[in-house]
Amino acid sequence: MALVPFDDRDGLIWFDGVMVPWREAKIHVLSHGLHYASGVFEGERAYSGNIFKLRAHTERLIASGRILGFEIPYTADEIDDACRAVVAANNLVDAYVRPLAWRGTEQLSVSAQQTKIHLMVATWAWPNLFGDNRMKGVRLDMAEWRRPHPQTAPTASKAAGLYMIGTLAKHAAEAKGFDDALMLDWRGQVSEGTGANVFFVIDGELHTPTPDCFLDGITRRVVMSLARARQMTVVERAMWPEDMAKASEVFLVGTAAEVTPVRQIGELHYTPGPVTEMLLGAFEKLVRMSPGEVEALAA
Ligand code: PMP
Repeated sequence: MALVPFDDRDGLIWFDGVMVPWREAKIHVLSHGLHYASGVFEGERAYSGNIFKLRAHTERLIASGRILGFEIPYTADEIDDACRAVVAANNLVDAYVRPLAWRGTEQLSVSAQQTKIHLMVATWAWPNLFGDNRMKGVRLDMAEWRRPHPQTAPTASKAAGLYMIGTLAKHAAEAKGFDDALMLDWRGQVSEGTGANVFFVIDGELHTPTPDCFLDGITRRVVMSLARARQMTVVERAMWPEDMAKASEVFLVGTAAEVTPVRQIGELHYTPGPVTEMLLGAFEKLVRMSPGEVEALAA
């Protein structure tokens, strides 16, 4: 399938408070965000017209900016409204939503105190990341690249700069014929995929690494509560590569990945099974509920 470039599409993009035609949503090449990766973003999904966990994404976006030392010049309500408005303006009901905040052009140096903070929200149709093969399970390579120590990078932020490691790891995996990569952290512990968190079914329990140097995903937290509501024991802990051999099932979770079974990690092979299937089904049901029903369940 030919790729349609992202700057040459029909539609509208919310850009600094205004809905602008897609092809006109441009910034200058001397933007700080482009040179120094001073940007933070979100990935959200609208299902049946509702953006799932919208406020949690908006709050994380604001928090990510603060970690990078900037304040997004809109309130959480205004950002929520922008996300909803852009989905509606593009006549989408099932869609991916991408807010991005970045430093502008006022200063182009390591110091960027005087830069203005910009915000845009775009949206487009984006079916599951792993497409039709999802139920078969995806194949992950073990990445050479590792998640850094929290004192080496702002690991709690969904900062654009952190995705440099993800792209390097994913490209290396794809070059070897894998779908994606699983990354260790700086200690050699299992961390996450390049854009999704990971879960292991071990002796009927659900195990997942403690997110102390990588993103504590919103989907991750949702899946943990879905499992607990179904009487599963959920264990958040330090996980080492040898733990992966003890798992009977493995799956990735994330906004883009949703719940995606894994059938291989490096030399290890898995068969997507009943726990993955149950949680995938529960997740798909939950995301199509109204925001009120979702909140009522969480209460
Ligand atoms: N880790 C990384 C590196 C990600 O990019 C994502 C996707 N945002 C996740 C985990 C999962 O986070 P969420 O469930 O909040 O989308």
